[in-house]
Amino acid sequence: MSSAAAGKLQQEWSKLQPEEVLSRAVRKFGISHLAFASSFGAEDQVIIDMICRHGLDIPVFTIDTGRLPQETYDLLDATRMHYGISMEVLFPERAPVEDMLQRFGANLFYDSVEKRRMCCRTRKVQPLERRLSSLDAWICGLRREQSVTRTGTGVVEWDEAFGLFKINPLAAFTEAEVFGYLLRHNVPSNALHRKGYPSIGCAPCTRAVEPGADIRSGRWWWEEAEHRECGLHVPNTNEKKSEHEPSRQ
Ligand code: SF4
Repeated sequence: MSSAAAGKLQQEWSKLQPEEVLSRAVRKFGISHLAFASSFGAEDQVIIDMICRHGLDIPVFTIDTGRLPQETYDLLDATRMHYGISMEVLFPERAPVEDMLQRFGANLFYDSVEKRRMCCRTRKVQPLERRLSSLDAWICGLRREQSVTRTGTGVVEWDEAFGLFKINPLAAFTEAEVFGYLLRHNVPSNALHRKGYPSIGCAPCTRAVEPGADIRSGRWWWEEAEHRECGLHVPNTNEKKSEHEPSRQ
């Protein structure tokens, strides 16, 4: 298992429709070693719909950081009801969260990039790491168009940070295709999308953006664009990195 194997799969799967990518992932990895990580973004809702519509039985999990907007919790429940599925909800470990808040306060993320990354690592990356340790591949809703940090996103990547395959069935989808799919299939979506939030994370770290603005510009808006990742996703390692590519800290 390596970036070479991911590169080979990328060549074979990159032109497939997202539903076919999901089916192939099930056949290759099996549902005991594959899971979909949803944060209830628009792309995630497209993927949940595809999984349910095609009866793929891929386990779905999400990370409740403890700082999500109410609208995201509402969507979690609406999605469970709509599809009649159960989803695994992961929480951060109590002790590191308590320690972080005691040392740096509740809103440390506004102080510096380092403290923001500490919060993301404690609340998001560590629970994810725990879950991924039992998998061979995970599925995400990343798209190339989403951000300057995601232009190299492949349909299949080797995830260097966590040591497993990462499958991005919607890598080539446009924003219009995502929202067109949601409308066409009557898929439940986050109410914040209708209030100017194209990308939604934790409540204190997400704000609405002007129409036409970079869709991730409302995430950690006080930081430079190349820092705006939480550590869940690192650049594609199937290809050689350029010296200017951002790396996970
Ligand atoms: Fe913490 Fe903000 Fe990262 Fe959420 S997005 S884990 S609140 S820094």
